[in-house]
Amino acid sequence: MYDYDLLVVGSANADLVIGVERRPDAGETVLGSDLAVHPGGKGANQAVAAARLGARTALLARVGDDGHGRLLLDSLRAAGVDTVGVLVGGAPTGVALITVDPSGDNSIVVSPGANGRLTPADVRAAGSLFHASRVVSAQLEIPLETVVEAVRSLAPGSRFVLNPSPPRPLPPEVLAACDPLIVNEHEAKVILGDGATVSDEPEDWARLLLAKGPRSVVVTLGGEGALVASRDGVARVAPVAVRAVDTTGAGDAFTAALAWRLGAGEPLAEAAAFAARVGAATVTKEGAQVSFPTAAEVAAL
Ligand code: ATP
Repeated sequence: MYDYDLLVVGSANADLVIGVERRPDAGETVLGSDLAVHPGGKGANQAVAAARLGARTALLARVGDDGHGRLLLDSLRAAGVDTVGVLVGGAPTGVALITVDPSGDNSIVVSPGANGRLTPADVRAAGSLFHASRVVSAQLEIPLETVVEAVRSLAPGSRFVLNPSPPRPLPPEVLAACDPLIVNEHEAKVILGDGATVSDEPEDWARLLLAKGPRSVVVTLGGEGALVASRDGVARVAPVAVRAVDTTGAGDAFTAALAWRLGAGEPLAEAAAFAARVGAATVTKEGAQVSFPTAAEVAAL
């Protein structure tokens, strides 16, 4: 019996957002809108998305001993995430400085801060969390060696899910543990390197990614849905038609939902169909964490 449906190992950031008419040139100052501060980071987002759906969720992360860290802890706890694994101190909380122009385009500078100080030793010290978790999910906003240690810490029989964002080449040990590796088009191309130039077809990327070692692969395709690939073959997951307002966080919500449903024993294609409904529900609302749906909202979609 596991205490947690999902353990997320990942980042927690404060997103600092200012609207601007245009971005400043070097040496220039421009005035912007009032500052908005939102809890974010792919790890915290996934944990909040899973907990909101009803998954028993824990997060292993690091925040600073500062106001942004307290904002993140508050939002995690409000969503029902167990924060026993959220370490405090060592560096300021990670921050994403985001400017948004009138066309809606973002420019983002990330200071990883405490996320960069989540170490393999922190993972080893959290061994009891790994043993209590049916599924472990990770992303790449924390050091790669920390993700490697998470793979080595998996309890026998538990499942590992990776969204390699921001993407970088992955060691075979990590690729072999993924079940599934979840990528969008950009991430697929970075991980495949030159291999992706052979085809524009996501089915081909999925097959090429599978050949690199993961037990399964999911390619997310935004408004086009997704596709799943395993030794059993490749299958499309139909998109759910919604009016998209803001796609921020859709990938995080999709990954969290998929990890949760796989842990509950659903086959990959079924779990991905549910995750596509969760991703679709997320894009109908502004923002990241505030846009993640409950299970009832998914059912009503
Ligand atoms: P992120 O912007 O969070 O990094 P991503 O690129 O990782 O996102 P997407 O492919 O944009 O992930 O979205 C994840 C899933 O959410 C998609 O596979 C799809 O099922 C669903 N989704 C995203 N956008 C839409 C949309 N416009 N309409 C319906 N479903 C959507």
